[in-house]
This record gives sequence, C-alpha cells and structure tokens, in this order.
Amino acid sequence: MKNKYLLFFSLLILCFITAACWSSDSKNKRDKTNDKPTPSSTVSESNTKPANDLTKNTDSENKMPDNSNSEIKSGGFTANLPSGFNQPSDAVGQRILKDYGALFVARGGATSPKTPIFKNESEVSSFQSGLSKAAENLGGFNIELQAAAMKALKDAISEARQNNLTITPNGEDSGKRDYAGTVRLWASRVNPGLTHWVGKGKLTESEASRIRALSPFEQVPEIFKLESQGMFFSKDLSKSIVYSVAPPGTSQHLSMLALDVKEHDSARVREILAKHSWYQTVVSDLPHFTFLGVPENQLSGLGLKKVSDKGRSYWLPSL
Ligand SMILES: [Zn+2]
Repeated sequence: MKNKYLLFFSLLILCFITAACWSSDSKNKRDKTNDKPTPSSTVSESNTKPANDLTKNTDSENKMPDNSNSEIKSGGFTANLPSGFNQPSDAVGQRILKDYGALFVARGGATSPKTPIFKNESEVSSFQSGLSKAAENLGGFNIELQAAAMKALKDAISEARQNNLTITPNGEDSGKRDYAGTVRLWASRVNPGLTHWVGKGKLTESEASRIRALSPFEQVPEIFKLESQGMFFSKDLSKSIVYSVAPPGTSQHLSMLALDVKEHDSARVREILAKHSWYQTVVSDLPHFTFLGVPENQLSGLGLKKVSDKGRSYWLPSL
C-alpha cells in the first residue's frame, strides 16, 4: 500500500516535470515565433526607410533617365524626340532636322539636345557641361564624347583589333567641337563659295559682301536660298553645303555623339561600328559616324529610315 502511494507520487512528480518541460519548450517556441516577427519588424521598420529611400534613389538616379532614354515609343521619329523638344517651324530648322536629325532620337544612355540649332557658344557650353562625358587618347588624338558613346566606341575598337583592324579618329576635332569650331568650318566653305559665284557672274559683289557681313546664324537661310538657285557651297561646289559642313550650331559634334573615323572606307569597320550602335547618319559625309545607342533592328522603331548612297547605308529621320 505504501509502495502504491510512493509510485503514485513518483508518477505525479514525473508528470509535473514533463508538463513543465513541455510548457517551457512551447514557451520557448512561442518566444521564438514571437521573436521572429518582433526583431524582423524592428529590422523592417528601421531598414524599410533606408531601403525605400535607396530604391527611390536608384530609381531616380539610374533607372529613370535610363527608362526615358531606352524606351522606344510608337509614333515614329517625332514621338521619339526628347520631351520638350523645340520643334522647328522655319525652313532652316526643318531642313536641319531632316538632314542631321537622327541623333535627336539616340538611346542607350545618350543625351540629345532639345533644339535642332544651338544659337551661340553659351547654348553649346551649357548643354555640354550637363553631360556625362569621357575623354580618351585615341590614335594619338584627345577625343571627348558622351560617356555612353565612348564606351560603345571602345568596345568597337577592341573588336576591330581582334580582327586586325583599327578604328581611329580623323583628327583632333573628330569628336567634340565647340560653337566657334563650327563657325570656322562654315566660313571655310561660305567665303570661297561666295568668291567663286561672284567670279562666275552669278552673284554681285555687293550681294556677296552683304552676306559676308551677316552673323553665321543669319547666313544659313541666305546660303540655302542661293543653293536653291543652283549656286552650291560644298567643297567642290557641286552639292549643298550641308553635305560638306554643318551650318553653325547644328553639327552633331556639338552633341558629343559623333566621330569622324579615318578607316571609314572599310566595309568591315563600318559593320563593327554598327554592331556597337555607331551608324552613318549624314548622307555623303563619309568619315562621319553617330552614336544612336540601339541595335540596327530597332532603328526603324525610332522613326529612322535607311538610305543607300554609293554603297553606303545612312540612317535618316523618316520625315
Ligand atoms: Zn563629322
């Protein structure tokens, strides 16, 4: 009987111990499950804000410009111009857009100007100073371009090298130019041209003097007018000046998205450049290439059309 009681009490004590263990275990478990949400909610609270801020920063600093820059909109060339683009209503501006306009729809990290014509040096320098740029010594020349254009160019140069080819600039002014540079080039065609057409008796000396006295910007419509009468101003005086030099303030080199390439005669070099988003975009300007930032099969989506001339392909706005 005594033994029975002893056994009963022993069992009872064992039960208490087990119950206590189970309950403390379950408490531990509960604590653990409670612990999890608690610290994690603390973490998420303290981390959420910086994490959200970080996402915001990434969005606004990297993703957003990239998005606006990589998106191809339906609606052709005009729909793909930079937002707030200053659409030209005058004949000169429309002509510039048609002949040099491919770069205004450039993608792939390129920044395009919002105007077809820079009116002066300060407009050019304010645009250029806001760009992400890269400078390299290429073929002995210091070349400065927009960073995205330079990166693609260097990739093209590497690929060319693997094929025992070179891609080098034509000269010191093959990349970036300033407004004054485009004025000098313009004058180097306009002044001899005026002298030539006066000599041919097609233009009076007083008319030539009047045009010489105008600002480069004001000369542009005057020269286009003479060309419409058959007096051309390209280097060999056989075609429009726009196929020889760009009117002041309109050169693609001002945008730092263009490069004049010495090896432009090589079809293989042109192919490699195109593979890295560098295309010909100004008809008959043979050494001139433009960074457009997309593969060839996306160019028509940007509202560009392929124009073939003397065995070369050029991409021009489909206007
Ligand atoms: Zn050029």
